[in-house]
Amino acid sequence: MNIFSEVKEHLTARQAAEYYGLKVKRNGTTCCPFHDDKHPSMKIEKNYHCFACGVGGDVIDYVSRMFGLSQFDAALKLIGDFTLPVDAKGSAELSVQEKERIHREKAERERIAHIKERFEKWCSQTIDILRNCILEVDDVNHFLIGKPLDIIFSEDYAQMLHAEPLINYWLDILCMGDISERQELFLMDRKKVEEIAGRVCAGRKRIMGCSRGSA
Ligand SMILES: [Zn+2]
Repeated sequence: MNIFSEVKEHLTARQAAEYYGLKVKRNGTTCCPFHDDKHPSMKIEKNYHCFACGVGGDVIDYVSRMFGLSQFDAALKLIGDFTLPVDAKGSAELSVQEKERIHREKAERERIAHIKERFEKWCSQTIDILRNCILEVDDVNHFLIGKPLDIIFSEDYAQMLHAEPLINYWLDILCMGDISERQELFLMDRKKVEEIAGRVCAGRKRIMGCSRGSA
């Protein structure tokens, strides 16, 4: 049995209401304390119900509404005020567990939102990076027109040409793929994307830089 049902075993709404100052007629009717009631609109015994404003509930609900307390604090107040033989300690610990659970769930929701945010950011940044890689490959293609064969057959240029279809494939996924394809790319190939993009950028610098230097 929990704290609420134990409190309700000991007290009716009427007992609590009278204790907290409500005048109840012998037939269990009273003026409703929750609206401006001129004629008794409330019936109160085990539970209470107002036929005018519609409020109603059990003893805990009454005290909760009367004093603006949570259901749990209303039960604790009743246990204290009536010195009820109800052990609130177990329930209080449960409530702590409940609070911890809510806290954990909130942290988990925030963690997921954070991952999603990072993922979306990664997608848009990676699209920019890969588009830039395509431009760099294009740059080098133009640059190499009429250049000596040793530069054209350089390892850097070979790697750039090798990377180009892969970069286009990744761009297709990022720009037009569905969420699961994009997630898979993020999870499986994040490092590889970085590495290839870095290699293209460095290759372009070496090809165009060194050739300029030696020209
Ligand atoms: Zn009322």
